[in-house]
Amino acid sequence: MTSTTTELVDYDDAIARFDPVLGIEVHVELGTRTKMFDGAPAGFGEEPNTSVTPVSLGLPGSLPVVNGTAVEYAIRIGLALNCQIAESCRFARKNYFYPDVPKNFQTSQYDEPIAFEGHVDVELEDGTTFRVEIERAHMEEDAGKNTHVGGATGRIHGAEYSLVDYNRAGIPLVEIVTKPITGAGERAPEVARAYVQTLRDLFRALEVSEARMERGNVRADVNVSLRPTPDSPLGTRTETKNVNSFRSVERAVRYEISRQAGVLDAGGTIVQETRHWHEDTGITTSGRIKSDAEDYRYFPEPDLVPIAPDRAWVEEIRASLPELPAARRRRLQGEWGYADAEMRDVVNAGAVELIEATTAAGASPAAARKWWMGELARTAKQQEVELAELPITPAQIGQLQRLVDEGRINDKLARQVLEGVLAGEGDPEAVVQARGLEVVSDDGPLLAAIDDALAAQPDIADKIRSGNLGPVGAIIGAVMKATRGQADAGRVRELVLERVQAG
Ligand code: MN
Repeated sequence: MTSTTTELVDYDDAIARFDPVLGIEVHVELGTRTKMFDGAPAGFGEEPNTSVTPVSLGLPGSLPVVNGTAVEYAIRIGLALNCQIAESCRFARKNYFYPDVPKNFQTSQYDEPIAFEGHVDVELEDGTTFRVEIERAHMEEDAGKNTHVGGATGRIHGAEYSLVDYNRAGIPLVEIVTKPITGAGERAPEVARAYVQTLRDLFRALEVSEARMERGNVRADVNVSLRPTPDSPLGTRTETKNVNSFRSVERAVRYEISRQAGVLDAGGTIVQETRHWHEDTGITTSGRIKSDAEDYRYFPEPDLVPIAPDRAWVEEIRASLPELPAARRRRLQGEWGYADAEMRDVVNAGAVELIEATTAAGASPAAARKWWMGELARTAKQQEVELAELPITPAQIGQLQRLVDEGRINDKLARQVLEGVLAGEGDPEAVVQARGLEVVSDDGPLLAAIDDALAAQPDIADKIRSGNLGPVGAIIGAVMKATRGQADAGRVRELVLERVQAG
């Protein structure tokens, strides 16, 4: 294989001379209580090989039964992707031999998927929309999990022994397959990432899965091919398997475009194969030569009857679909009165839910945006964490803003309170008490500080007395400093002028 010695072509150069075409397969684990074809719990994090039955272990004589909730979830996904729902569809056996598939076949769907011919609109970072055509969404079951022990890479090569955990075997999956994604050009990596992200948001909104990437609830296989021009026939594709973060999807596509351009430049040919993504080094390496579909010897599953979803039921499910993420974003933008660019920044920062919760806690949309996109966004960036990971809640921001609105703290003090909350000193109210940050509203201490300031700067005091109000700021500044910022500057100004006139 020449691929490991290939020179990478600079991405911009590759994109200038080749047209990338993508195809993305996303697997989502459904959040049903039990597995796809048996009553074993479909949870996460149990002791290995405890969430199993004879069916999930593929023991002889065991028979599968379809999980009705999984079918409903698959239909929900299909409808949300604007697919047609099959009048009738079947399961099929996909035969392959691998220790994590105890039956030696995966029960899947082949020529009769439950949902087909759909599309989803993907919003890109600059606010434009890219439509991805969906070929099909079908039901299947997850495999178990192999752990290869003793090798350097965690892969089977070089391992001393392997362990198999069948808890995951039989967990319901829906696999969503796109049609070839053309026309993305240089934005192909971004389109790929945004597409997977759009699906993740959709799964959550539909409440069909927790859709946690880090747990492998959502996994993407990314097919990439290059052709000289958009008019050329499709090139040979590679399939990078099981990429499980948004960022990795983007990086893997970018890498494959650079790598394939290098192979083609050197006069080589692209081998149709699966490839592994390496998060640490940011490269893909050759996996196995990809089987064509017929190698799986698909045939209809004889142990399960066809599924013919009742049309009335499908319409019932359609009517019960929740508001989908794109529509929700549009509604919230209207309610909040944000400009397009403001909303886009909020979406890109992952702050929609946070702002929604902050307004629910009583802050105005403008104030909520100011906190999350200002001070807190800066803190998150500094600490290299997501906004939602900051140790502060929307309710606390609501309380902080209420203190400002009530005039108990000013903006400057609010930033100190925020700092205290982030440092784990408790709710804003508690930080104000503990740090003694409340605005000084009693005139007594302010007048004392004003007298001190006037006495310390007699020339300025004279100017003000003679009607020149220009230098009044210097006195206010001195008072603010003396009260550690806890004075209301407007009130200080009033008092300074009263004082000077009286004197
Ligand atoms: Mn699959």
